[in-house]
Amino acid sequence: MRKIFLLLGLFSAIFNSACSTESSREELIRNGDFSKIIPLTDTLLGWSMDKGIGNVSKSEEGMRMQKEFRVLQRMDVAHEVSERYLLNARFKVESGSMTLFIQAFLPETVKRESYWTLLSKSFGPSKEWNNISIELQIPPEKILDLIQVAFSSDSPDTLAYASYISLRPLPPSKTAQNKIFISSADRRVECKSIYVSSPQDDYGNIAAKFLQKHLYNMTGELLPVSCLSEKQPENFEGSILIGKAAIDSNKISNEELKDVGPGGFFVKNKDLVLSIAGKDAPGLVSGISAFLKSIGVKFLSSKEIEYPKIETLPLASVAFKRTPAFAFRSGGGNLNSDFLINSFIASPRKIGGRSGTIHTNGFLVNFDKYHKEHPEYFALQKDGNRLSHKPGDSDDFVHLCMSNPKVQALASENLIKWIELEPQAKYFSIGQGDGYHYRCVCKDCKAMDVEEGNYTDRVLAFVNKVSEKAAEKYPDKIFFMFLYEGSDKMPVKVNPAPHVRMTYCPFRPKWWCHSHAFCKHNSQGMAEISAWFKNFSGQLYVFDYPSGAQEALSIFGSFYAMVEKIRFYSANGVTGLTLCGTPRQFNALFVNVISQLLWYPGIDVEQAIDNFMREYYGPAAPFMREYFDLLYKQFDERQIHQNCEIFNYGVISDDFKNKAYRVFAAAENASKDNPKLLRRVKGEKLFLLYNDLNENNPFTNVNDLNLKDFANNLREFAQIAAEEEIFYVDKNHQNITEWFWRKAGLKLNAKGKWYDEPAIKELIANPLAALKEKKNILQKKIKNGWELPASAFSGGEPARNGSYIVIRRPALLKSIVSADLFLDEAPSNEMELTVTGQEERNCGIEVFVNGKSVYQKSPQVKFYEHPGTRKIAIPKNILKKGKNTFSIKNITSELSVPDRGKALDSCEYQPNPYWGWLIVDNIKITE
Ligand SMILES: [Zn+2]
Ligand SMILES: [Zn+2]
Repeated sequence: MRKIFLLLGLFSAIFNSACSTESSREELIRNGDFSKIIPLTDTLLGWSMDKGIGNVSKSEEGMRMQKEFRVLQRMDVAHEVSERYLLNARFKVESGSMTLFIQAFLPETVKRESYWTLLSKSFGPSKEWNNISIELQIPPEKILDLIQVAFSSDSPDTLAYASYISLRPLPPSKTAQNKIFISSADRRVECKSIYVSSPQDDYGNIAAKFLQKHLYNMTGELLPVSCLSEKQPENFEGSILIGKAAIDSNKISNEELKDVGPGGFFVKNKDLVLSIAGKDAPGLVSGISAFLKSIGVKFLSSKEIEYPKIETLPLASVAFKRTPAFAFRSGGGNLNSDFLINSFIASPRKIGGRSGTIHTNGFLVNFDKYHKEHPEYFALQKDGNRLSHKPGDSDDFVHLCMSNPKVQALASENLIKWIELEPQAKYFSIGQGDGYHYRCVCKDCKAMDVEEGNYTDRVLAFVNKVSEKAAEKYPDKIFFMFLYEGSDKMPVKVNPAPHVRMTYCPFRPKWWCHSHAFCKHNSQGMAEISAWFKNFSGQLYVFDYPSGAQEALSIFGSFYAMVEKIRFYSANGVTGLTLCGTPRQFNALFVNVISQLLWYPGIDVEQAIDNFMREYYGPAAPFMREYFDLLYKQFDERQIHQNCEIFNYGVISDDFKNKAYRVFAAAENASKDNPKLLRRVKGEKLFLLYNDLNENNPFTNVNDLNLKDFANNLREFAQIAAEEEIFYVDKNHQNITEWFWRKAGLKLNAKGKWYDEPAIKELIANPLAALKEKKNILQKKIKNGWELPASAFSGGEPARNGSYIVIRRPALLKSIVSADLFLDEAPSNEMELTVTGQEERNCGIEVFVNGKSVYQKSPQVKFYEHPGTRKIAIPKNILKKGKNTFSIKNITSELSVPDRGKALDSCEYQPNPYWGWLIVDNIKITE
């Protein structure tokens, strides 16, 4: 790697890290000359395929990219000090065209995708190589998580090569404002350097950068990071010693770390030397984070860090050690390192594989690499064939023939190679493939099971075997697997090896309710996990679901359930917790308090909430607390049981929302003089507005909808969503523009920034008029009349390709669709309305023209006559000149088909979408 840099002569001095001259860590891109491949998969190290199609390989000329490809690399930059990066790239397009994208990602926020594009440049065919060198500037107020570099084909005939690419942080521009001092009771000295033990000390280097960055942000002083192995100071006074450096120089003794447990740390400032050591790598980063907090840094949310304003920064005499209840903490909000930072959990995708951090069997024995010569390595399917897999499919669904000794040996060998590729990671998943029905049914694999349907012995025996050698060679690594879908049953013969952790997933149907820990709807799951606790306490992790997956802005009330579960897990010996996302509403509060609980499950949670609210909302804190309590009261008093996988309705009641809006008015008033606090208050109100608008809008069967209130709420929602730059509202990436069309009938372009569009500007200026006077001309002229296609209807639920619209039962809140027809003059005759589509018979339907009912049917009566059309007469004098509105309303009562919903879906507490629906392809209005 260094040779290339010298050859191209691109770089001179990079800023002051003594360690950087010998290691390549200042170069962020891995395998920038495309010379290395991943031995496990034979694909290019560091470069992963985002789209499964296309063809990317190593060639004489570097990386060869063909057909429809998108190949990318993501780099953790959460610990980089820099706001400027230098990109160098050398590539050539032989045919077609290719775009080079550089994108910067923020930590997980409300937005589904929170990134912005630093560079997007398209290149057509040329005989010459392109050599580009560009400085990329990151806005200083942004807190970055990742930078992504991607090459993407613009057409299927593209053939391109890249021979070199690099990305380097440039020295930060701020100049020192304040010096950093280390002080004792009677003396203070200027702080000179942060020391790590050696360039190979990956853990130490990550931790040192983390500290360097925050000290720089606080003071403008960029302390150099030096290596003890290269430069021993004469005197340690004024030094900060990190990790192994603190131990090697005897500033922290092994004896002092003896009573610190996994994930814990020791921070000590003695004799004007600040030393921070961890029991392990994550513990070291936590130690630095705890130290920063002890000097006044506030990690408020994934987007907001507040630094103390002080003239000089005295690093005072301290000494404290801590051990977390949960050494393994994963799942978002990782900025303050209360959750483990990304680098500590191995991820094939980060080094160029196709698996994430969970289902890694297909990375350990790669399908693309082995299936031709050794189909027997992969699971025998029920149809008698070995597993098949479309080229480019995610490796997450690869199932191995776990009983095959050659598979075990290969996976074991490959696990060691994987550890060598991600030396900084501590936790490695040996997770079985997703989709249990692909499991191997060969005789030998079945023989590993003790009983039909219980796969735990099989999976556990495999994981033990595969990790055996790696655990000998790397005793500090932890290997984990997942207890779910058949491997959640108690093993009979096999026990987990000491270095193996088993991750239990409290998922439906056994765990139905995520609003209450000890809910009756979780009783089956509780019994199951209790049995695990009894037998395997100490080797269990949990993968829990405190966030609603369907809708980003929907209120998901998992806070107290999570508090109780964390205490319950901890009391039963669980030491690892992964959160499948964190709830979006009260997100900063959730991350803050839950992080504290993962260290100390016994803390006073109510006190912790109050403390956080005081910091975060200032004078509005009492009102925000009142709203928080009011919200959680709903879950208890009204017995609302939410589940992470479904659309959760019903939080909004008239009583709740009236009180909630009143409390918010007080909170806004209390914070009106402080824009930062007001924005936080309104950022929370966004969720209340979203839920209210979702449940009460012109397309739900609300009898007494006050259109003026709706319009005003919609305006406020638009204003806050614009400020928060929200573009997506649900899991399927529904654009917010689509949401405005479905819930309010406002047609937006979905191109560019939605809040700059005229319809939104009109809504802000005059909300009621904007809704009443909207003019969506989407009709088509046909012979003897007009057609309104599915795309002309707002409300309801559209087909993915837009070719039809689904009208669901009122309980599912998508029960009304409507479309407008504009006429130059009122027709003089009776007209005919023809509706085309399909139905599930048990729906009740009513059709309206300009608010007048023209047709009604009850369930069990067919709506569509053969061949899928229904003709309805429109009496004279209903249609008029100008705007005419056609509405179709699903009026099916939940009780009209007793027990139907329960029978069709195992989740009995959810309105089942699979019955009582009507589909409309189009309507025609003819003479
Ligand atoms: Zn098998
Ligand atoms: Zn419940």
